[in-house]
Amino acid sequence: MAILIDGKALAAKLKQQVKEEAVSLPRQPGLAVVLIGDNPASRRYLDSKEKDCRDCGFLSFEYRLPEDTSEKELLELINRLNEAAEVDGILIQMPLPEHMDSRNILQAVSAKKDVDGFHPVNVGLLSIDDARFVPCTPAGIMEMLREYEIPIAGKRCVVVGRSNTVGKPMGRLLLQEDGTVTVCHSKTVDLGSITREADILVSAAGVANLITADMVKEGAVVIDVAMNRKDGGGWCGDVDFDAVAAKASYITPVPGGVGPTTRAVLMRNLLEAARMHMGVSK
Ligand code: NAP
Repeated sequence: MAILIDGKALAAKLKQQVKEEAVSLPRQPGLAVVLIGDNPASRRYLDSKEKDCRDCGFLSFEYRLPEDTSEKELLELINRLNEAAEVDGILIQMPLPEHMDSRNILQAVSAKKDVDGFHPVNVGLLSIDDARFVPCTPAGIMEMLREYEIPIAGKRCVVVGRSNTVGKPMGRLLLQEDGTVTVCHSKTVDLGSITREADILVSAAGVANLITADMVKEGAVVIDVAMNRKDGGGWCGDVDFDAVAAKASYITPVPGGVGPTTRAVLMRNLLEAARMHMGVSK
């Protein structure tokens, strides 16, 4: 039976480290969160960011804009936040309304306040192994592998999903640590023949029960990124958890795995941004 990777415990540890390191800064780091439109998921998103900031001793600034906000108005707000001395990081909640071009918006956020790591400059830095802000989900998974002393060098690593926010940077980070990496996607033929080779399997497809036990090698490390809504309420990942846990050496639960570490790494990225803005080295 697999060892459960405890994302909540790791997140608490990471946030505690961030809080302790932030105490010596000349001022409190600040995070601006921008939401367009109003729905319960947005509310939860805001609440969680506020709580994380509070836990770490950071300030959070909330901007709620109506659904019909124009792209120009949003860009003006982003420009103001780029200039604001008390703001070290800027988050724009995705997805944006259809009348906005998310590329324009993401590129408008200063690369130095892009704590999500989505700006092309930060994507480029990651791709030449000189990362500044790494997207929080894959960075959190790397923390998990470190925490549980799971070796990567020389291992076969398979990532299912190639999004700019999860799959691609995940592949990049595993490659940086000398894994032999394959990235799969919806056009991949015979997915199981590839996942069965994996010593480390990261699934970020967003398809419930995509990864069944016959697709996993005995003793593999299985990281389930996905958050899929279950019909009767609650959440599940891509992985058929019980059957795969019987074969894997390590596995992440959903919820309680990748999600909490993602949030903790955001706080660490904010700390790094604040250090950079304040001219304080580690
Ligand atoms: P996304 O942009 O929709 O990307 C999904 C990727 O999975 C795409 O590359 C897609 O391939 C691939 N895919 C879809 N169906 C597939 C299949 N049947 N076989 C193989 N590949 C398949 O999603 P995302 O933003 O990367 O997020 C992925 C999942 O992780 C979602 O469930 C999301 O909610 C979750 N997530 C969780 C956290 C967290 O903190 N826990 C953070 C971010 C995301 P194509 O490129 O060919 O379309």
